[in-house]
Formats: sequence, C-alpha cells, structure tokens
Amino acid sequence: MTGDGLLALPERLHRLEELAVDLWWSWHPEARAVFRRLDYTLWRATAHNPVRMLRLIPPDKLQEAAQERAFVEIYDRAIAALDDARAARNTWWSRTFPPLSGQSIAYFSAEFALHQSLPIYAGGLGVLAGDHCKEASDLGVPLIGIGFMYPQGYFHQHVSAEGWQEESYERLDWNDAPIEPALTPDGKPCVTAVPLGDRSVLLAVWRVRLGRAKIYLLDTDLEENAPWDRELSARLYGGDRETRIQQEIVLGIGGVRALKALGSDPGVFHLNEGHAGFVVLQRIRDLIEHGSSFDEALEEIRHSTLFTTHTPVPAGHDAFPFHLVEKHLAGAWGTLGSNRDRFLALGAYDNGSGSQFNMTALAIRSAGVTNAVSRLHGQVTRAMFEPMWPDLPEDERPVTSITNGVHVPTWIAGELVELFAKYLGADWLERHDDPALWEGVLAIPDAELWAVRQSLRRHLFTFVRERARQRWTEEHVGIPRVVAAGTLLEPDALTIGFARRFTGYKRPELVFTDGERLARILNAAGRPVQIVFAGKSHPADDIGKHHLQRVYKRALDPLFAGRVAFVDDYDLHVAHFLVQGCDVWLNNPRKPLEASGTSGMKAALNGVPHLSIGDGWWAEGFDGSNGWMIDGGKSGENFDEVDRADANALYRLLEEDVVPAFYDRDASSVPRRWIALVKEAIRTVAPRFSARRMVKEYVDRMYAPALAGRSRQLTIDK
Ligand SMILES: *Cc1c(COP(=O)(O)O)cnc(C)c1O
Repeated sequence: MTGDGLLALPERLHRLEELAVDLWWSWHPEARAVFRRLDYTLWRATAHNPVRMLRLIPPDKLQEAAQERAFVEIYDRAIAALDDARAARNTWWSRTFPPLSGQSIAYFSAEFALHQSLPIYAGGLGVLAGDHCKEASDLGVPLIGIGFMYPQGYFHQHVSAEGWQEESYERLDWNDAPIEPALTPDGKPCVTAVPLGDRSVLLAVWRVRLGRAKIYLLDTDLEENAPWDRELSARLYGGDRETRIQQEIVLGIGGVRALKALGSDPGVFHLNEGHAGFVVLQRIRDLIEHGSSFDEALEEIRHSTLFTTHTPVPAGHDAFPFHLVEKHLAGAWGTLGSNRDRFLALGAYDNGSGSQFNMTALAIRSAGVTNAVSRLHGQVTRAMFEPMWPDLPEDERPVTSITNGVHVPTWIAGELVELFAKYLGADWLERHDDPALWEGVLAIPDAELWAVRQSLRRHLFTFVRERARQRWTEEHVGIPRVVAAGTLLEPDALTIGFARRFTGYKRPELVFTDGERLARILNAAGRPVQIVFAGKSHPADDIGKHHLQRVYKRALDPLFAGRVAFVDDYDLHVAHFLVQGCDVWLNNPRKPLEASGTSGMKAALNGVPHLSIGDGWWAEGFDGSNGWMIDGGKSGENFDEVDRADANALYRLLEEDVVPAFYDRDASSVPRRWIALVKEAIRTVAPRFSARRMVKEYVDRMYAPALAGRSRQLTIDK
C-alpha cells in the first residue's frame, strides 16, 4: 500500500487501513476476525489479503459494517490490542534488560517470509527470518529487519500434464502489499545510494510493520537508475553470479547506509546467512572514517556482529572469483585504501576449487560468534570449515548452535488456540515456551482433541478440492490432473504430508522406492493411507524438476488409486493448511544435509507427529514416543544402498506402527494410541522448538551481551 489515501473509510472505522497494513494482524485472531467478518468472500478470494480487500470492497459494505454493533466491537478490540502491542510497555525485553533500552539490533536477511501477501521469500530461510522478526515483536526485542523488496520475488508454479514445473512471474501490485515508504527523521521518503562498480545506484526503502518490530526493504527500481540496475532487485536469487554479487553489495552496503539515513544506530548486526556479509565492509569504512585503524575497526565489528549459517554443504556457500569482487566493489573501498587486501583476505577460502571470495568465510572471520541452526548442524559446520582453523580441535572451533524454532501464533490452528485456552489457561500463548505449561495437554480429553484433528483434516480437503475445482473450471486442465490435484482423497483416511522444496537431498521420491509395497500400504482394505505432496523446485534446478515430475507421475498413476496427490503452487498459505491438516509429517532427507528443517516443527505443534530421518532438528527432537525416526542403518556414499535401507525402514514403520496406531479405535471410534502420540508431539515440540525459545536464546547468548558491552564502552568513552 503506497499510502495515497484513496480509500474513503467510514469515520467509525478510520483505522482499518492502519490495521491492514501492519502484518501484526496476521498472527492475532482478534484482528483476523475483523477482516474475515468484514467480507468473508473477499477474505477467501484474496487469500487473506486485507490491503487488497480494502481496495476491492464496495463502499456500502463498509458503511454497513460501521453500523453493525457486533462488528464495531471486534474492530475496537483489535485496534486496542494493536495500540497495546506497539506501545512496547512491560515486555519480556523491557522487564529483563532495562539497561538496554534505547538500543537496537539489525537483522539482515536476503528473504523474509511474513505472509503470502508479501511474496519476498523462496523457502525455509525466509520463513525462519519472518518467524524470528515476529517473535522479536512479541517479546519486545528492538529488532530491525533489513532485506529486499522483490517485485517479482516469488514465482507461481504450474505443473503441466507431463508433470513439468512451469513458472510464471507476476509483478506484485504494490498497492496490494502491506508496505509503506520508509521515512527519514525529517519525514521524507528515504533514498540512499550504493556504489556498484564505477557507478552509483539509488535505493528506495520500504517499511513493513510487525507490531513493535519493523523491516526495511531495499528497492533499486527507481527511474533515476539504469534499466539493468532497476532490475537488480526484481527477483530473489535471480540471474547469474554477477547479479548475485551486486544484489549482495546492495543488501550489505546499501543496508548499512539505509539504516544510517533512517536515523538508526544498531548496536548489533545479525547476519542471517552469508548473503549480507558486505555489511562488514561498509562498517569498517565508517569506523575508519571516524579515526579507527583497520584492526580496531575489525575488533569493534567482532564485538557487535553475529552470523547464522544454514548450509551444511560446501558448494551451497556463496563464493565469487576475486576479479568479480574487485570489479563490483571498485567504487566501494573509500577510506579502506591500502587495507583493501586485508578485507579481501577475510573472505579468501578454498573449498576445493581454488581460492575464492567466500561470503561465509567473510562472515565467520568478522563475526564475534557464528551459530549453526541445530546441534547436529553445529558439528557438521565445525568439521566442514576445518581448514579455517587448522590448529583447533573440533570442540574449540568458534561455531556454536542455536536450534531453529517456529512462531507459534503464526503456525497454530485457530481451533487449537481455543482448545489450549480451555485446558492450558486463557493466557497459554503468553507462556508457551514454558515446558511445564504443556503438561496440561495430557489432560485434554482424547475425544475432544481427536475431534479437532478430524476437523483440521477436513479443512485441508476443502482447500485441496477447491484448488482442484479452480484448475478444472478456470484452467480446463484434463481429468487426470484433477485427480492428481487430490480430488479422490478421503476426508477420514490417514494422511501423510510431504511439502518442501524439490531438490535431490530431500529425496522426494524415497517413499516410491518399492511401488508395489507402497500401493499395498495405501490401498489396504478399511485402512486407507494417502500422501499429499507440495513444493516448488528452483527455476534453474532441472534435477529438482525431474524429481517433481516423477512424483507427479505417481499422482497420475492408477496403481495408487488417487491416494497420492500433488497440490501446486506451495507457499505460506498452502503450508498452513498442510501442517495443520495432515496426520503425519514425512521428512526423509539424506543425512546430514538438512541443517534444521522447520516444517516438521509446525506440524508437530498442531498435533501432527513427525516421521523423519534423524537429521536436523529431529536428531535432538525425537524422544522415542513423540513421532518416529526412520533409520535404515546405512550411511556413506553408496546412495542407492542408503536409500533402499531408509525406504525399507520407512515402510516398516508405516506397516507396523503408524497405520495400526491410527486405525486402532475404541468403542467410541477414538484412536487412543494415536492421540497419545499426538499429545506427546505437542507437549515436547511446542515449547522447545518455538521461535520464542529460539529468540530468547539469541538474546541471552548473543544480543544482550553484545549490547551490554557496547553500553559499557559508551559510558567509559564519556
Ligand atoms: C516452513 C516452510 C518451509 C521450510 O520447510 P523445511 O522443513 O525447512 O523444508 C519452506 N516453505 C514454506 C512455504 C514453509 O512454510
């Protein structure tokens, strides 16, 4: 929304637009209720986009709502809650760290997944960043996110009759997005410049509000810029190496400059993945300008920078040939002058194909602390970057871990919010990272919890069927594709979900290793099982697209009797239905390539137990009774052998444990054993793998000590 004030709101509802443009609404049921109730048809038609709703809604509908007492009451409650949230009084942060008031933390990320109405993310990294910022808002942590506004960030996925993924890029209509121009302290729209090669590129800055937190998004699409520079921020991870390094310069250098222009002076810089490593360059420059030597500047930066790494494979880390770095940083050195080579040395790293400028190496060498995103990933990272610390034994290498978590209010189903309020206490959300609170789950009557689980599965099928109907009526796809979209799924059958990026290491076809055996499991009389797949492949990843195609062909195959479905165009919206509505969440990556994974946490929190390889978060999350661990007992480079063993282990679990537990019912048709598993999944996963636990850990172990050091320094300086 660009704030041109075209919308004529009734006086009684004059803050409706303000509510729509603050994504805080998206995780507060009382605020969601306002828009759902305002116009339910539009709410659904816009995939829950209130900004767009307000553009489309007939004025008399608004007038009517303003007259309706019940609606006005809901509206008033939501506005009061929003004001309360923004006021930032009496938050966890303010209570726990009073001396740090007035400080802030900058959180840099190339993507943020906040809501489907702001498609500036590709996958898990973005979801993590979005959840981190929302939780920071809830806790009152003064976090400022910095990222990119990609007008064509996210592509829509279409799957052809042959199962081939096709992409369409839809230009985001900025009037439909929850963004506003970011203003400088004197009230002007912020524009800043970033040096790229021998030219200067201008950046506009957008602001996203999340209650107490905010995110600034950088945008090169300004008329003053050359056409190719205007396109720089068009797509996430778009184009070739040259585009990529320029995007990263814009994010790192431009981000630090934008913060300054906006009057922010963060005490901590958190780099979420290596993409933002050039933050370090701009900060060294600034410090040298203020009289520091290179070494003093680097020392200061180490005290105030932390780096989170997410990639357990060497090739997954961004690295550039030095000539590219020199070319595009030509105008960026400024006061660095003769220390240029020292900066370049910070990034030098040879991961097997000669020395390159490696963004992860830069970030590790300039951050005071580096963290991996699960315990296992911590071990893998320390081993992988061994050449960086040739003299240090593994346990002394400076990489710790903070396991990921998910934002509970965002991912929890509405019906469970109410059920937990009834049995855990009306204030359960306030205390949701307290493991003791979750003991209360054991007291929920099985039949009540089962009724909610059944209802959530049915919501999923309503959604799946509606999408299939749309493809049939609007796009006239053939009948096999209507079947593949999930039309024949049964609302009461055991439903396995598998939704994530289609890429080799996630082994999307593992469950089809022995098609006949799987067909027997799916088609068993009286105990049907079905699998719902969703996920995109990176547009440039043909291998991933072949994986997707092979899965899609299974959805078309009568052998599986319409019990394998593929839901297209996976995004946050689809993810919500899947993680809440399936019965089991399947995850079978090739260990140890899944750094953490988060979709399984979202599922478990909703009472959907995890059926997973012991990789990423599940290596520490599985306790023997809260789900299942797939372990074929083989590892190593013979992938065929490993895959066969893992597939066998998966079939055995399905045949002997999962299916019997689900279909074993008591006299009143309640699956007692199943509900015990559901309860264990919720009880053990919800507190520990919440973004609340995660953000508090970042604060306690990293942000607060860094900020406290800064406060001390400031007082000494005076
Ligand atoms: C949670 C989520 C992911 C990440 O899932 P993984 O388990 O890490 O693969 C990716 N995309 C969307 C849309 C999500 O909601």
